[in-house]
Amino acid sequence: MKYHLITLGCPKNKVDSDGMEMLLRDAAYLPTESAKQADVLIVNTCGFLEAAKEESIGVLQELGRKKRRNQLLIAAGCLAQRNGDEVLSRVPTVDGLLGTRRWMDVMALIGQLRRGPNQRALQRYSLLGDPEREYTAAVPRPPVLGGSAYLKISDGCNAPCAFCTIPSFKGKLQSRPLDAVVDEATALVGAGAKELVVIAQDSTDYGRDWGEPNSLPRLLAALCNRTSDDLRWIRLMYAYPGHVSDELIEVMASQPKIVPYLDMPLQHGDPRTLRRMRRPSRLEMVYDHVEKLRAAMPDIALRTTFIVGYPGETEEEFQGLLDFVQAIEFDKVGAFQFSPEPGTPSATLPDQVADEVKAERYARLMETQQPISLRKNQAQVGKRLEVLIEGEGEIEGSGEPLLLGRSYRDAPEVDGLVLAPGVSGAPIGAMIEVHINSAMEYDLVGEPLLMETFPSTKETIPLVHL
Ligand code: SF4
Repeated sequence: MKYHLITLGCPKNKVDSDGMEMLLRDAAYLPTESAKQADVLIVNTCGFLEAAKEESIGVLQELGRKKRRNQLLIAAGCLAQRNGDEVLSRVPTVDGLLGTRRWMDVMALIGQLRRGPNQRALQRYSLLGDPEREYTAAVPRPPVLGGSAYLKISDGCNAPCAFCTIPSFKGKLQSRPLDAVVDEATALVGAGAKELVVIAQDSTDYGRDWGEPNSLPRLLAALCNRTSDDLRWIRLMYAYPGHVSDELIEVMASQPKIVPYLDMPLQHGDPRTLRRMRRPSRLEMVYDHVEKLRAAMPDIALRTTFIVGYPGETEEEFQGLLDFVQAIEFDKVGAFQFSPEPGTPSATLPDQVADEVKAERYARLMETQQPISLRKNQAQVGKRLEVLIEGEGEIEGSGEPLLLGRSYRDAPEVDGLVLAPGVSGAPIGAMIEVHINSAMEYDLVGEPLLMETFPSTKETIPLVHL
């Protein structure tokens, strides 16, 4: 039997897909890149924004159009949880729905769908469940590809952000037990992970549901102390302003396995917009976090994300955001244009911003950030950075090989790369040291140093300089 699995959306979905893959493989299902050859088609959907929802529906419709008799089409994940009825009405070829906290029941769902008077009499079946369902299930060890793996420490969110639908279908925060997270981390490292990317809706709220807010420093310390030295990088994503405690900064600064990198999505930089977003609006607190983080870790790379064109955002408020970006000088900035999500308070706010104004503000924000990112990257020139190899490409036009990797400054999928032109042969997932020669806004360019010069690297890397 074969399965074809498509994952859409954020890294949190990727973790659930890895878990499903593990269960499918345990049940002797083999992966296939070809939808045509698969017995089971699964789309792990995203329902966060309208555009993501339409993409998920589009992928399901495409698979549904070509679906063979006896093939199963399953919609899993956020959109299935949140808009299951809509999925079934717009994609009538979907056989089953699997909710966000039910991915571990994928084999049960397939079993239910296959049951019946004969194989053709498939019934639609849903395993959605309660978003508040206890989130303590053991997570099967996912395969580790490329030396990096996501580690999900909690699900759901307690924050009241007015634009966000996640709490409505993921429910309140549920932290995974500390030992379960450490056990999974140990298994991932055993399976080849050199980097663990810690994710959650709000990773800094870990433990609040047990009455122990600020448990993240304890979890990070346990991850550092109870994993082998094969684990080189622990990367922290999705910190919430106000939850970045002194203890967290201290553990980040003192544990060599934790990379000096923090992603803290701030959403805006003007207090008036932040108040309408129902987000923390005291900017002094953010300045304070940043000052402490930089004092404790002078090499820290800070990433954030903003929404532009939020309802009621005046030109003055937008200028407040640009001033904030220039004052803080983040290393990396991501941005979205606001899209009203049905059912959220933001969707019905007055003074929605016109699409062309959103697009123009988005462009101005990125233009403001680019020289800052370039300066931050230029400061890396001349340094030797440890780089996790992600693959190889070709230089367009010349066909020359191009080694691709990431330093501690770059999170997978969202940040830039370290490029080594003219180099090939380093295995994916290996860690090598690279001398940085030049910088662009998003990427760095460098030359790998030879093995003997960095004894901490364990792999033998056959580098071929052309
Ligand atoms: S903190 Fe993030 S996940 Fe939670 S409500 Fe706000 S935007 Fe949504």
